[in-house]
Amino acid sequence: MYYGDKTKEKLQNMAFGYDSRERGTILPKTKINSESINAQAAKALIKNELLDEGTSRLNLATFCQTYMEPEALELMSETMDKNAIDKSEYPQTAELEMRCVNILADLWHSPKDMNFIGTSTVGSSEACMLAGMAMKFRWRNKRKAQGIEDNSKPNLVMSEAYQICWEKFCVYWDVELRTVPVDKQHLCLNVDKVMDYVDDNTIGIVGILGTTYTGDYEDIAALDDIIEKYNRNHPNQELVIHVDAASGGIYTPFVDPYYVWDFKLKNVVSISASGHKYGLTFPGVGWIVWKDRKYLPEELIFEVEYLGSSVPTMAINFSRSASQIVAQYYNFLRFGKEGYSLIHSRTQEVALMIGDAIRSTGFFKMYNSAKGLPIICYKLKDDAVYEDGTPVVWNLHDLSARLLMYGWQIPTYALPGALSDEVVHRIVCRADLTYNLGENFVRDLKKCISELKTARILCDEELLAGHKK
Ligand SMILES: *Cc1c(COP(=O)(O)O)cnc(C)c1O
Repeated sequence: MYYGDKTKEKLQNMAFGYDSRERGTILPKTKINSESINAQAAKALIKNELLDEGTSRLNLATFCQTYMEPEALELMSETMDKNAIDKSEYPQTAELEMRCVNILADLWHSPKDMNFIGTSTVGSSEACMLAGMAMKFRWRNKRKAQGIEDNSKPNLVMSEAYQICWEKFCVYWDVELRTVPVDKQHLCLNVDKVMDYVDDNTIGIVGILGTTYTGDYEDIAALDDIIEKYNRNHPNQELVIHVDAASGGIYTPFVDPYYVWDFKLKNVVSISASGHKYGLTFPGVGWIVWKDRKYLPEELIFEVEYLGSSVPTMAINFSRSASQIVAQYYNFLRFGKEGYSLIHSRTQEVALMIGDAIRSTGFFKMYNSAKGLPIICYKLKDDAVYEDGTPVVWNLHDLSARLLMYGWQIPTYALPGALSDEVVHRIVCRADLTYNLGENFVRDLKKCISELKTARILCDEELLAGHKK
């Protein structure tokens, strides 16, 4: 704040200068401090605390948005005080949330002759929780209606490449998680095998639009075909698909509009997505839409009496800031189809460029090079050698550590299930990784590879020398 009074400003600066009392504050770690300090000093001290966390934009491990326009930031800080659940107090904020649901239902081709219903959530995890509950309650209600009241445990079927939120769902809601194994030919859902895991107690099948491990799209259209046949032969059981489109939901429709995966498919009844992934909003927002109200059992819809009015809610969380919802609406308004298509296509181009550059080094076996999500996933070849015949003695963990010296965060991890011996790097390209930044990354990666050639050998010689002594 500018007071127009230079002396006052000076005094304020002094208050959190290096010579101030506050600068010497020992930060509270196990209990709250007894004295207060001034706001600027508190901010400076906390900024210092967070200094060594790296630059989020160089963190190529995350799917989550790390950049928003200054206008969006302003809007977010101005709406931080609004409580999203307080729909009667902030009816216009509630309206913006509904508009986002409408936009997504339309983007995902919800049928005109059905009544879709949806909500914002904190992220895909909460949205998947809701999707799973709806499937479980529908399965139970159906069985009750058929007079089946045994204690069979319900199960949910998906590929082994599922995201951790599904494991949580199954533990929290007492559902058996049935996974279809992945193998070298099937890095995601093996559609030929999926029905081996289905029985009368299957509450549904999850299809993933862009697996977290490699970014592959599961073949949801093929899955729908198989389920349609199954449902025709099992009139008492209606198998349904939930699409976990955490990453693809607000990416694929813009980059690959002809790819069929959404409500166009008869048995896809609900879709969830993370607004904070390719929805381009800062973390804290997800979405779920059911194509018709009948797929969301009434028991899961609560009417909240709030300040004299009644509003339906189906989310698990109650109070939270509305600023992410406002920011999501800002993005939809600001970018439109045109903007989202342009931004995501650029991201795809960057990913393709990085993928090509990595492949052409000759050291790596590629698992994905921006086919599906703009993700590059690769492992080190077993017989990798430098051009002069020097064998590669480093591994991907060494390469990650080396890249971190240049600020780049690239995760090294094992693939799921039977592929757990396969250690890979996964690079997630996001909108703020521009083409130029991408080129810098490739340059740094090549530098690291060349540095590791000697760095490791020197290290080994030292070790050897040490042993000889
Ligand atoms: C990221 C992700 C999730 C969890 O999403 P959050 O928004 O972080 O809760 C679920 N499923 C898939 C496939 C994901 O990639």
